[in-house]
Amino acid sequence: MHGSRRTFLHDAAVFVLSVAVLALLNLVWVIPTIRATYSSASTLALATVERARADVTFSLRAMQNSLEDAAEEIAYDPARKKIVLNRVLKYNPAIKSAGIAGIDGRETFILDRFRFITPADFGDYRSAGSFSSALAGAVTFGDLYISPEQEPHITLFAPMARAGVIDGVLIADINIRDLVSAIHTPEITQSHVYVVDENGYQIIHPNVSAILRRPNFLSRPIVRKVVRDRATADGLAPEDRYVSEDGVSAFTVGMPIAIADFSIFFETPRSVALAGVRQVVVFAGITVLVGALALFLIIRARNRLQRLNVRSVDLLKENYEVGKMLVRRDLELTRANARLEELDEVKSEFVTIAAHQLRTPLTGIRWSYQTLLEEGAEALTSVQRRVLQGGLGASLRMINLVNDLLNVARIEEGRFGFHFTLQSPFKMIQRAAERFRKAARDKGIEFKAELPPAPPRPFFFDEEKMSLALDNMLDNAVKYTEPAGTITFRAAEEGNILRISVSDTGIGVPADQVHRVFAKFFRAGNALRFHTSGTGLGLYVCKNIVEKHDGAMSVESREGKGTKFTITLPRAEKPPA
Ligand code: ADP
Repeated sequence: MHGSRRTFLHDAAVFVLSVAVLALLNLVWVIPTIRATYSSASTLALATVERARADVTFSLRAMQNSLEDAAEEIAYDPARKKIVLNRVLKYNPAIKSAGIAGIDGRETFILDRFRFITPADFGDYRSAGSFSSALAGAVTFGDLYISPEQEPHITLFAPMARAGVIDGVLIADINIRDLVSAIHTPEITQSHVYVVDENGYQIIHPNVSAILRRPNFLSRPIVRKVVRDRATADGLAPEDRYVSEDGVSAFTVGMPIAIADFSIFFETPRSVALAGVRQVVVFAGITVLVGALALFLIIRARNRLQRLNVRSVDLLKENYEVGKMLVRRDLELTRANARLEELDEVKSEFVTIAAHQLRTPLTGIRWSYQTLLEEGAEALTSVQRRVLQGGLGASLRMINLVNDLLNVARIEEGRFGFHFTLQSPFKMIQRAAERFRKAARDKGIEFKAELPPAPPRPFFFDEEKMSLALDNMLDNAVKYTEPAGTITFRAAEEGNILRISVSDTGIGVPADQVHRVFAKFFRAGNALRFHTSGTGLGLYVCKNIVEKHDGAMSVESREGKGTKFTITLPRAEKPPA
């Protein structure tokens, strides 16, 4: 749990680091690209506003010129005022009415495009600042005003001078609605051009109702900058941005208009003007994320590999240590083994010597008993005879034991001495059968011999040793079978193999011990109880003899049911090595 948490934190740190590094690397191209996008948005907007400014200037200038001409003409020939003003209205559709005021500011004449004029329509411009400016000799635009018909207007004042003396002012009302149509407005969603006067009031907007609301935009820093400083604003300064009346964050550029101290602006939603920036940022973001993911995967794989490496190195070290230990153990074992072999040799020597030394006196004792029993038979009482027979039996068992011990010692020392001769085993088998038929009968056991009808072909074997082996098998069968049991002795030639088996219906070997019957000194528990005498060496010797003939010996047994020993002997061209 702890480990996996640590791995997670480590991975997270790697990921964050990858993002940071890639983000930094991306800045190299993202920043210039964003800058370029901004400046091209600005350039485009400036071009748009410039064009609109040209349109507006052209329209205003045209009206201004035509009024100046008219003012001059009337100044020289006041009688022509009606003709002249009629011409002005004819050629300037935006001018709704034109009139003349004396230097006292009182209007004395008006020509209106749509209405008849009554004296009540004559205005009094004495206090109007623009009127004073006109009297000072400048063509001046007045403030925006909304006519009773809800039309936005501005008034243009042109001084009427004759030979440098001003004796009146020509006054024209311009309907902004007509001016608006002069402005080229780009067909961009939510983008438009607007014009504000020197006080920040919006005087031109494509939507006339926006003009009628008479908004003042001096609260917008960019408007202040252009209106007050008469400077062009490229929209790139952070303070140039504002939230438009539609509640949209606006990208705006602006520039002053030479005529009338107006200022013109082009406003477009930032999301439209700077869509490129958003695309760049999104693209850069995706690049960073994908890159970071790849980097993260690579780093993680590398770390895993490293950890694996460390682990392998540890394992190798461990392995090396274990190897060293094994070599040490092996050495110890080899030494111990050598020592055991030495001891075994000493033991074998002792057994051989002891057995040899025992055999001569034992044979002597056996013959003494036998001679006494055979030659002094008449003189013996039945008790004496029983004692002597017991003694003879014991000495025979002892001789068997000593013989078994000597055989085992010889086998182990490799000097069991085999003499192979080429002959048919038939006689040997028959003789063995005869020997045990009698022993079995004496014990009340049925003895069946199933031997081949004709002598098997000759092969190489050591008759004495093989007889010993057969005797052992048959002896065991008699020994471990109770009276009324059956022993079956079979021999058969199967191709190049001679198969000899001895089966009985005796006590059998417990299932968990069968695998040990050929081991030295092994005696099964039931055998120990059933037949107290026995060395546990017979089958060991047997198996050794069979194997020296390149044969094999096997056992099948069920406790209480019986046992079957089988030996198979191959027929070879030459005697076994
Ligand atoms: P021994 O007969 O002197 O005990 P063996 O080496 O001939 O020694 O046999 C080893 C053991 O194998 C016996 O003690 C006995 O437990 C078992 N054994 C051998 N032959 C038979 C058999 N025919 N029936 C039952 N058990 C047998």
